[in-house]
Amino acid sequence: MYKEIAIKLFPGVEELVGKKLYKSYSCPRCPKEELEEWTITGFGSVGKNRHELADYLGGYSFPYGKKVTKVLVGEAEEYIKKYESAPLDMFNVILHVEKYTTYSDGTTAKSTTAETFDIETGFTDNVSLNKEDFKEKIEKDKEEYEKYYAPREGYVACERCGKQVPENEVVKYKLIYQAWDNYRGKYVTSRIGTFCSGECAMNEQMALEG
Ligand SMILES: [Zn+2]
Repeated sequence: MYKEIAIKLFPGVEELVGKKLYKSYSCPRCPKEELEEWTITGFGSVGKNRHELADYLGGYSFPYGKKVTKVLVGEAEEYIKKYESAPLDMFNVILHVEKYTTYSDGTTAKSTTAETFDIETGFTDNVSLNKEDFKEKIEKDKEEYEKYYAPREGYVACERCGKQVPENEVVKYKLIYQAWDNYRGKYVTSRIGTFCSGECAMNEQMALEG
């Protein structure tokens, strides 16, 4: 039933099995040309919102360990019918993918995961069926890297966002946070942090407070 729903949502999805899916982890702070290459091994559907779907279906779970009776089978069939007739906009398509990584010692490891395809918004930004989709973004990341993040003479990197700031424009901020050691246990301490702006200093302080 998961597959049938996926086919209704995304006609032609079955033709994607065996094709490649690419993931990019490039960002302006860490431009990266290499893409992860995954192979699509299957597909299915998944509730967009688990709670919404569970409410709609009425919280059925098959009673494991019980003797299978006509009544139980009837209930399960009822549930499947209900699932299949749920409004399509309650579901997303998921693609099962796998990838093999060979390590320097010659061993190979298989990884598997699933990527969500939302009918309205598509994949998340770092996932695509087409390699070329990332070209422009990676070029932009490289430009931004050169402009803001590449280390340069007379500059220091902001501790929070990583942007380079001229040494004489650095915002020094006293960060107060909790530390722990064997002698004192938990104690409050501070250190001077280096930031591009008051905003980054504040964000760092807030992150330290959890
Ligand atoms: Zn910053």
